[in-house]
Amino acid sequence: MLPIPNETRRPLVLLVEDEPALADTVSYSLGREGMDVVQARDGEQAMERFRAGRPALVLLDLMLPRLSGLDVCRLIRAESTVPIVMLTAKDSEADKVAGLELGADDYVTKPFSMRELVSRVRAHLRRAEMTHNVEPEPGMLAGGPVELDPDRHVALIRGEPMPLTPKEFELLETFLARKGRLLTRQYLIEEIWGPGYVGDTKTLDVHVKRLRQKIEADPHRPAHLLTVRGLGYKFVD
Ligand code: CA
Repeated sequence: MLPIPNETRRPLVLLVEDEPALADTVSYSLGREGMDVVQARDGEQAMERFRAGRPALVLLDLMLPRLSGLDVCRLIRAESTVPIVMLTAKDSEADKVAGLELGADDYVTKPFSMRELVSRVRAHLRRAEMTHNVEPEPGMLAGGPVELDPDRHVALIRGEPMPLTPKEFELLETFLARKGRLLTRQYLIEEIWGPGYVGDTKTLDVHVKRLRQKIEADPHRPAHLLTVRGLGYKFVD
């Protein structure tokens, strides 16, 4: 029997681009390189198809009808660590920076060569595959000074057991599971307090403040649980 080549598993790429001619050219090029492509023409369609298809990578035009590319980037990043490569116009420096701050991984400036695009996409897929393969000990979460064992509900800070309230534990677990990513205030509130939560959103800030007192060496100048101004929080090593 012939060995089954690795290439049989075709990665799925979500291409968000409202110009049909460009979208088709890109789809064709990626298809020829062994990838499956699903297209979306606007921001809302992008979110629908993202949630339905769980692609391995997102190619995201920033100038879109309905939801803008930056909104799409923020929404995807709040729920996934999938690589996001932006397709940007030459004169959109501010958008590029905003996209990267919102968690996009890379950008390609229009007009781009298909060869450049394909090699960028390949590189990000490879990197994502590699980080996927170095999972820590199953069930354990770690970041900065924190180690969490969600099954046993144990938290260690710098190796010492630290008592946490259930909400603090859940919040820290959410941060560690999505380390390095911006988590919006809305995402965190829905994730921890449920989508029907109608209380004061200051509750979240109070919990973050208490967590900082427990994990940060200097809670007033946090090195791990960071504020992303106007958007939310993120946890870094
Ligand atoms: Ca466009």
